[in-house]
Amino acid sequence: MGSPLTPEIIEELKSISQLSVEEQKKVLPSFLKKLTPEQIEYIKNQQLEQQEECLFCSMVNGNIKIKKVYEDLDYLAFLDIKPANPGHTLVIPKEHIQFSTHLTNPKIFDIANRIADSIYKNLGKNTNIFVANGTDAGQRLNHLAVHVIPRDKGDGVTIGWQGKEVKEDELDKIASKIRIEIKEKEPEKEEKADEFIEYDDLRIP
Ligand SMILES: [Zn+2]
Repeated sequence: MGSPLTPEIIEELKSISQLSVEEQKKVLPSFLKKLTPEQIEYIKNQQLEQQEECLFCSMVNGNIKIKKVYEDLDYLAFLDIKPANPGHTLVIPKEHIQFSTHLTNPKIFDIANRIADSIYKNLGKNTNIFVANGTDAGQRLNHLAVHVIPRDKGDGVTIGWQGKEVKEDELDKIASKIRIEIKEKEPEKEEKADEFIEYDDLRIP
């Protein structure tokens, strides 16, 4: 009955689960080396059980009926059965992933955006697009969902906060901590030039 995992291993597992897929790949080999085969087997079985119990995984597997709004190879979107407002849609990855930061591409947000556009065009409603990454942020299931919520004026739905006072030097510190850089792709000038030459070659024998 008892778990073969020590409290230290459980803590370490928790912190690894918060990392991105790339970072997990880096730390997992050395973590697994510390474990006995019995412990590894236990962790694998636990993960399988979690997925079997996962409500969203059951929807992906067709074990629970849904009102489908969109589906492709990797994503599924359907109506929330207890919506904030009618039309409240959830977009989920078919893979059991907890954090949006663990996704390898941002397509889920593109799908959510298109559904928000469809809600605007077909229901005439404004929307909130909402993600909870982790339990502190209000995530209830450990399977990622992007919520697209249609809104009406005075509908009683609350997604809000009271602005806190933060000193300017504190703002500077935080900004420098979380600042990121995104490298834009270089325009593919050379390839286009090649295409042009090929085209010319075809036309001028
Ligand atoms: Zn799941």
